[in-house]
Amino acid sequence: MDEISKLRTAVYSRLDYLDIIVGEADEASKSALADTVITQMTGAWRELLAAHDPDERGRCRACSPWRPLGRTGCSVWRTAHRHLITDAAEGPGT
Ligand SMILES: [Zn+2]
Repeated sequence: MDEISKLRTAVYSRLDYLDIIVGEADEASKSALADTVITQMTGAWRELLAAHDPDERGRCRACSPWRPLGRTGCSVWRTAHRHLITDAAEGPGT
């Protein structure tokens, strides 16, 4: 397995683990996990979004440094908006 595959497997395994905890753990375990994981997740989002901040011409530094992004913009920012703003406004289970 190459390094990229190992990295991907490790990250997906961690996400699977967190999904299991959220779905199956008791409230005390979830609360303890939230204390650390929320900080990790907000840090990860900030770092990822910083890498995709637009330059002075509105081009994503990571996705499209040499050409315009077009009307839809950077997919990382669209994903962040959908998960952190749109889905959050709709609330769980809606
Ligand atoms: Zn981007």
